[in-house]
Amino acid sequence: MKVAEKLEVIKLKVEEACRKSGRSAADVKIIAVTKYVTTERAKEALDAGVSHLGENRDEGLLEKWQVLGNKPVWHFIGSLQTRKVKSVIDKLDYIHSLDRLSLADEINKRTSSKIKCLVQVNVSGESSKHGLSPNEVVGFIERLADFPNIRVDGLMTMAPFTNDENQLRKCFITLRELRDKVQKCKFDHAPCHELSMGMSNDFSIAVEEGATMVRIGTALVGEDEQEV
Ligand SMILES: *Cc1c(COP(=O)(O)O)cnc(C)c1O
Repeated sequence: MKVAEKLEVIKLKVEEACRKSGRSAADVKIIAVTKYVTTERAKEALDAGVSHLGENRDEGLLEKWQVLGNKPVWHFIGSLQTRKVKSVIDKLDYIHSLDRLSLADEINKRTSSKIKCLVQVNVSGESSKHGLSPNEVVGFIERLADFPNIRVDGLMTMAPFTNDENQLRKCFITLRELRDKVQKCKFDHAPCHELSMGMSNDFSIAVEEGATMVRIGTALVGEDEQEV
């Protein structure tokens, strides 16, 4: 299926989830996760009207950036090694995977202007997942005030790999409540309005629970070129 058709399906589902929860679809950014696909396919997504692209590795980002430049809004969604920051930082609009002070320090050093970061939270507690545990988040964000180039725009999580709707919903609610808690702190460096949650299999539930950014790979651009 063409990306344009898949995009229509996803938009309808986002609208439906917004209707159910009394939200506006304009408040949900759809990020096409292009990590599995070619630059050509990423370009097809842009032509179809997607304006946000997400990559989880520096190689994938740099390869696509060479061709697409800063036309899309670029999101880095994967775990970011400190030594890789230098090569990607000036290409990115958002980093979704801030999870340690050493990374914040490096980001802060390598950028000359403020960069929007999301703090990654491991809500489900699975050991395979990156991110802070929920009870560490407020203290961590408080300490990010030491890094003037870091602005905490929100929180990000990856839900557990399950089809259990209740478990998924619980995870998204936890992240939303945590976001609200951070907002109540009114840190100057952490407006924290974004909630990056929801992927191909669970984005409808995530939107119902307040996602402002959904990260969709498989359902939008496919897993690989063969699918085209
Ligand atoms: C790959 C990936 C996605 C997209 O996953 P799909 O299930 O293909 O939609 C979203 N977020 C992160 C962090 C990812 O690594």
